[in-house]
Amino acid sequence: MSIIHCGMFFDGTKILENVDLEIRNGRVAKLEKNIVGSDRLDARDYFVMPGMVDSHIHLSGSTTGNLVAEYLTKDARTRLLRASTWMIKLLKAGFTTVRDCGEENSIYLREAIKSGTIVGPNILAAGKPLSQSFGHGEVAHSIPFHWNQDRGMSEICDGKDQCISAARRVLRTGADFIKVFSTGGVLSERDRPDQEQFTPEELAAIVNEARKAGKYVAAHAHGDQGIRNAVQAGVKSIEHGTLAQDGTLREMAERGVSLTPTISIQELLVKHGQKLGVSSWGLEKIKAVRDGIGKILPKAAEYGINILAGTDLGFETGTDIDIGTNWNELILLAEIGGLTPLQALMSSTGNARKIGIQAGTIEEGKQADIVLVEGNPANDIREIRNKKRVFLAGKELSLSEH
Ligand SMILES: [Zn+2]
Repeated sequence: MSIIHCGMFFDGTKILENVDLEIRNGRVAKLEKNIVGSDRLDARDYFVMPGMVDSHIHLSGSTTGNLVAEYLTKDARTRLLRASTWMIKLLKAGFTTVRDCGEENSIYLREAIKSGTIVGPNILAAGKPLSQSFGHGEVAHSIPFHWNQDRGMSEICDGKDQCISAARRVLRTGADFIKVFSTGGVLSERDRPDQEQFTPEELAAIVNEARKAGKYVAAHAHGDQGIRNAVQAGVKSIEHGTLAQDGTLREMAERGVSLTPTISIQELLVKHGQKLGVSSWGLEKIKAVRDGIGKILPKAAEYGINILAGTDLGFETGTDIDIGTNWNELILLAEIGGLTPLQALMSSTGNARKIGIQAGTIEEGKQADIVLVEGNPANDIREIRNKKRVFLAGKELSLSEH
């Protein structure tokens, strides 16, 4: 048993002051003022908050933004080993849970962490994402089609029956949810972010398979019609959502569909895309997408849409926006999206509960994933980048030697 004596305390939804936190067997046993006990940590100089959740990441182990180079010339096992080195970086950044939105590695990493083989954050894994032919989930469109299938970046499926079958295959691998691409994207060669992918019928079939297995669907979608198709099919979250029109945002709010704006990847591609090996067509497409998100986010917040912090990082960049600086997303949500510091903090903590992630709040009975941050990010969100102490299931991680 140990007690954390807090000054500024954020439970994932609200700020409290001068509370004590008792941790027992990896869980929060008590949360109240003046808990008596000897094993006490004085944390009054810190901002005590839940371990953060990156709700959109790809644990690919890639080292460039060039998908052809990564998926066609590197073996999946090489990437998996590389991705395992990211785990400690994520913890060190204060992220104790990540939702991988499409990458088979995430299943193996999740199992290795659960069994204690390696130390890492809690992982929610989509496994392979579902893509149509000539879709966002193909490594490239100018290579033979079967190369895409062979290298397994996605499950490629067309028509209701194939979609049902692909969804079942992904669920069979142990996916926690299903990821689909319902529009084109930026890093895919010949489609465009505003183009719809999959038909409403295909999307509904995938959502139904997920539902039957007690899972849900998250949809990558930029263009308005593709977002609408996914929302009406019953997905739980829209990833990106950059070109959503007003009526679609209102429908998302009504149906309780969450939005992950993924500003980090957009800023990364605009700022550093060229030197990171992103193709010219990718650099061209990012512009429209990036302009969109600054416009829709304030509206999304106003309509009460549940906003999730997700970086969409999927490769090492060696820049200021990288695996291990995932908290940048919170700063960007405030600076570009107009969220208040508290709203930005909630997007990486309490809001995750609303899509069923068992993390992001400090509550009695829940796993004690806790971060102590120097400064006060509820006052100035940029302080979320400050030095941290991280507790995973109640145990402080010794992060200095890494
Ligand atoms: Zn993504």
